[in-house]
Order: sequence, then C-alpha cells, then structure tokens
Amino acid sequence: MPSYPRLFQPLQAGPLTLKNRIVMGSMHTRLEAMPDGSARAAAFYAERARGGVALIITGGYSPDAAGLLGPDSAALDHPDKLAAHRVVTGAVHAAGSLICLQILHAGRYARHDALVGASDIASPINRRKPRALATAEVEQTVASYANCAALAREAGYDGVEIMGSEGYLISQFTALRTNNRSDRYGGSLANRLRFPLEVVRATRARVGPGFLILFRMSALDLVEGGLNADETLQLARALEAAGVDVLDTGIGWHEARVPTIAYMVPRAAWRDATARIKSAVSIPVMATNRINTPELAEELLDQGVADLVSLARPLLADAAFALKAEQGRADEINTCVACNQACLDFLFREKVASCLVNPRACHETFYPAGKAERAKRIAVVGAGAAGLCCAITAFERGHHVTLYEAQGDIGGQLNLAKEVPGKEFAETLRYFRTRLAQSSVRLQTGHRVSADELAKEGYDTVVLACGVSPRLPDIPGIDHPKVLRYDEVLSGAKVPGRRVAIIGAGGIGFDVAEFLSESHGATTTREFLAAWGVDPQGMGDGGLVAPRREESPRAIVMLQRKPTPPGKSLGATTGWAIRMELARRGVPVLTGVTYQRIDDQGLHILHEGQPKLLEVDHVVLCAGQEPVNALRAELAAKGIEAALIGGAERAEEIDALRAMEQGMKVAYSL
Ligand code: NAP
Ligand code: SF4
Repeated sequence: MPSYPRLFQPLQAGPLTLKNRIVMGSMHTRLEAMPDGSARAAAFYAERARGGVALIITGGYSPDAAGLLGPDSAALDHPDKLAAHRVVTGAVHAAGSLICLQILHAGRYARHDALVGASDIASPINRRKPRALATAEVEQTVASYANCAALAREAGYDGVEIMGSEGYLISQFTALRTNNRSDRYGGSLANRLRFPLEVVRATRARVGPGFLILFRMSALDLVEGGLNADETLQLARALEAAGVDVLDTGIGWHEARVPTIAYMVPRAAWRDATARIKSAVSIPVMATNRINTPELAEELLDQGVADLVSLARPLLADAAFALKAEQGRADEINTCVACNQACLDFLFREKVASCLVNPRACHETFYPAGKAERAKRIAVVGAGAAGLCCAITAFERGHHVTLYEAQGDIGGQLNLAKEVPGKEFAETLRYFRTRLAQSSVRLQTGHRVSADELAKEGYDTVVLACGVSPRLPDIPGIDHPKVLRYDEVLSGAKVPGRRVAIIGAGGIGFDVAEFLSESHGATTTREFLAAWGVDPQGMGDGGLVAPRREESPRAIVMLQRKPTPPGKSLGATTGWAIRMELARRGVPVLTGVTYQRIDDQGLHILHEGQPKLLEVDHVVLCAGQEPVNALRAELAAKGIEAALIGGAERAEEIDALRAMEQGMKVAYSL
C-alpha cells in the first residue's frame, strides 16, 4: 500500500491526465526580469518536474502592457517572446511534467504609472490611482487574455491559469469595493461577474477544447466590499459553465488585513472555503495555502476538500517533495516553514526569490547539483543553521565532513526559534537530523572541539559556525534575579511572572512577546479565524466578521532606545501581522527610552523626558547578540585559516536566512 494513495492517483483534468494530484502553484520569482532568466527558469522548473510534480504553473505574465505588475515584470503579448518561453516548456516536458502559464493582469496593484482598474479607486497598498477602463478597453482586455493564451499554446504550454483572485484586475471587477461602473460590467452581481466569464469564454474560443484552462478564483476575499460565500459559489458555477477545466482557490486580497500564508496561519486553515467551492461544482478543485506536508495533502483529498493540492513555497523549499512522498521518504522533505523571508520578502526588496531553508532555489544554475572536483576533509564547528547547511551541502558535494557541536543536540538557535508560536523550525531540525543520519557526516555532539584537536586532525578546511551569545547590555542591575535572557525564556528554562518588560524590540523581542502573550500552545484554525475576524461560513462581507478580543495571560511592555517605529527589522510580509497581533493582545512598545537601572522595584527608565518605573516581575533581555568565534584566533596562532559563517562571522542582523545562505555558499566554495 503506497503511503499516500490519493495523492498519487492520476486525475483527468479537462483534456489532460495529471499523473498525480500535486500541482506547483504559481509564484513570482523575478527570474523573468534577469538577463539569463529563461535558462534560470528552465533549470528551476525542470528540477521541480524531475521532483515528481504533475503540473507546474508559472509566475504571472500579463496579457498586455497596462496589466504589468511592475516595470520589470513580463507580458506575453507578442510572438517575438515565444522563443524564451520554449526554453522553459521544453525543459519541463523533457523532465516529465506538464506546465501552464499564469495570466495575471495586475489592475490597480500595478507599480507603474499606466495602471488601470475596473474603476478609478486606488488600493490602500498602492499610492498610484488607476484609470478606469472604458467599456471598449474592457472588451480589448478580454481579447488580450485570449491572445495571451493562444501565444502560450504556441510556446508549448499545456494550458493557462487565469489569475482571478488576490485582488488583481479580475477581483477588482467582481467586488463592489473596487467596481462602481455603470456599464454592463458594473452594478449587479451578474454584471460584475461578466468580465471574468467573458475572459474564460474568449480564451476557450481561441485555444479550443484540447488546452487546459485553470481559473484561480478568490475563495475568500477577506476585504470589506468583497464577495460573500453565496456570491463566490455563483461565480464558481458560472466559471464551470463558461468552460473552465480546473478551479484553483486563492485566499484574501493582497490588501486584506488578515494573514493568509504566513507562519501564524494554521496549516490548511482555509480548507472550508475550498470545500464549499468543491461542493458547488463538478470540475476538479485545487486547495492552496499552508499545505506543507504530504500527510496534510492526503488528508484534504481524503476528506473530499479538494481534488488537487497546490504547493508553491513547499516546492521552493524542496524540489523533490512529490518524489520523496511517493517513495515513502517524507521524513527527508525539507519543509517550508512559511516564514516568507526569502520568497515574498525578497520580492518586496526587488531581489530574485529564494528560500530560507533551501538557498539554492531559483539559483540552480549557479549552484548545480554534483560533486566538487576534489573531495576534501572538512571540519564544521557548530551545528546551528549555518553549520548544518554547510555540513550537509559539503557532504552532498562529495567532501568528508566532521560536524562538531558543543551542545548535546544539533540546532543552535533553531531550537529557540521553534518555540515561537507558529514557527515550524522543528521540521527543519527533523530534516537535518534525517539527512545527517543518512549521510557519512561524522557528527560529534556534546563535544567542544579545541584548536589543538582541529590542528591534530589536519583538516583541509575548518569552517567556524559557532553562533552567537545573547548581548548583556550595560545597565545597572543587569545581574538582578529579575533579569532573564531570551534563550532562558524560549527554552523554558525560566518562566517569567505575570508582569514583564522586554528590553529590545527587534526580531527576537517580538518573538518573545508573541511567546509570552499566547495564552496556550498551538492556535487552532477556529481560534485563528475568530481572532482575525474571519467568518467560518464565509457569509460576512468579503467573508469578514468582527474579530474576537484576545487576552494575554501577561502584562507585557516592549522597549527600545531608538525613537523610530518598532519592528522595522521584521519581514515586509509578516511584520504587519505580528504588530497587529501584539496590539490586539495589548502589548505596547515604548520607543526612545533610556534604561536607568533594574532593582527590586522593577525597571527604571527615562521616557519622553520623564523618569518612569515599570513595576515588573521580570525583565527579559532581547538586546541583540555577540559573535562566538574565539577559536578563530586560536587556530590562526597555529597557522590555520578558518572560514567564519553565520553569527560567528557577524552577529548583527543574523538570522536563519543569512546563516543558511552562507553555509551553502561556503560549502560550494570548498
Ligand atoms: P535586532 O533585530 O537587531 O534587535 C536588537 C534589539 O536590541 C533592538 O531593538 C535594539 O534596539 C536593542 N539593543 C541593541 N543593543 C542594545 C543594548 N546595548 N542595550 C539595550 N538594547 C539594545 O536583533 P535580534 O532581535 O537579536 O534579532 C536578530 C536577527 O534575527 C535580526 O536580524 C532580526 O531581524 C532577525 N529575526 C527576525 C525575526 C522576524 O522577522 N520575525 C524574528 C527573530 C529574529 P535599540 O538599540 O533601539 O534599543
Ligand atoms: Fe517557505 Fe520560508 Fe522558504 Fe518561503 S523562504 S519557501 S516561506 S521556507
């Protein structure tokens, strides 16, 4: 009996047979903006095709110039662009998967000045105001979608996905929030649904029956003035009647103030919204968002929530997700931890997307799989994020690796990060544990290796990944029993009382505030939806209801010396949600403070020119870190040059992202 019988059952989707139920969902990568974008995209997608996924959906391509998301986004609107696409479709087909092009018209989300929309209503997340499309322009836009699909077919794609969710142009037509038109594309629901239905009909008419048409519809808008569940189901039925082969489900507009994919969202939290659509149509329906294990994917299929699962970020994290699941090797999957730190956050910084747990993602041509020219003897000191990534990558490159760890177990700071509510680094540790057990890496835990020993072993290369130690700020009373370090708190070694002051409002300060303000362990989907004001039945306006008030079991105050807004170092796509969550739990952040002393009364500060006493039971230090790298000098004294990576190299702004990326890069440079 295979491990996941439903996941690996073929499915007839329109004209095509999918070999299993795993679809690689569309993701922006920015590869199309790179000079060598086609070759890089071909390598990126082909690796996922070899990894066993049935169908790949590309990142979004606009059907015309107005619909471009940004100045360096791509449109498929002319035959002279076909050659670049054929490089990608050819590589994916040769590797055994099908591939569809996503057609995405950004509408009012566009980051260029020629943006258009259903109406001239600006989005709260875009300072540019769109120009309302005239009726004839709407008709022309419908034709552009069909033209784009026809070009996709010429380029060798097996189908297209029409992007009709997340608040892009099609959503902007369907919702009253963004559509105040008085022509036949505005007003009644039937009129507002006209645009997507005409797009589908025109596309089908151009491409014929043998070409797959997927439509990504918004299963939940999560914005005021969005569709409710009844209206959503009407759209689903109408799309089926118009000729769609598969319905993909998107959750929430980009301007929604509800997190939809970040780590604080429980796994498969949106299953009910998908199940509602499945119950309304007879074509295959695809579940999406926060599905990151084969067990969960199988469960959704088994429970009849969906016919297919769309995995996007999980396939950035592990190209071979499907193959490993099929072969009963799920414990080898490098699981997406929903951090957004290298995928979405990179895109916000106009960088090519990658993955925190798999820094090779989207950089496959620079870091090809394969062995180094000469196998070397490598010592890696420290089995935290940087050391683990370095050791495993070096082993895969054919080197003989010894990994030293002073603690009794691997993981370093990941052991603390995994305690923060929602953070899934326990999966990362499971992945590394499995990989190490399967490898010939000589793991020496509970062993603080000395420079003498390293010298005696005569390694070709020594890599120091010894990590960081928490910074102890120079504040009178810092050794008072009220003072706890963040590592003591997150590890559970010390439990703070009811009244807590947190010194430092950086990433770890916010992590600790989340940890201490959560009333209990894992948040259930029901609690998550209630806290963020999502109607489980989707019947509110846009699927929203009033959020439930959250109570923190502790009175917490966060502090920083800088006068600037707190939380600047948090990720662009998660920071707002963390700040909202803590504000809801009544956790204030005092900025511009001066620490005076800590004593039996509590923490004495100067704030807004006034002395203040924070009467707290404990003061938790989250004041950054210092590098741990004394071994370097000891080795240098013996004439051994060691490479430093991770926090040992530079403690400022060290996180798992930089640690793993450096670990991989050093392993490739050996
Ligand atoms: P961080 O983000 O640099 O924050 C350090 C905090 O300590 C700042 O608020 C700083 O504020 C304060 N501080 C620094 N020196 C101090 C001193 N001598 N006395 C008192 N306060 C002091 O560092 P971190 O919190 O340790 O996090 C490490 C890295 O991991 C960062 O890059 C962070 O972004 C990342 N991380 C991110 C997340 C996330 O995105 N969710 C979560 C965890 C960690 P003032 O100097 O203004 O007082
Ligand atoms: Fe997942 Fe984080 Fe990787 Fe993005 S960066 S794919 S969220 S693990």
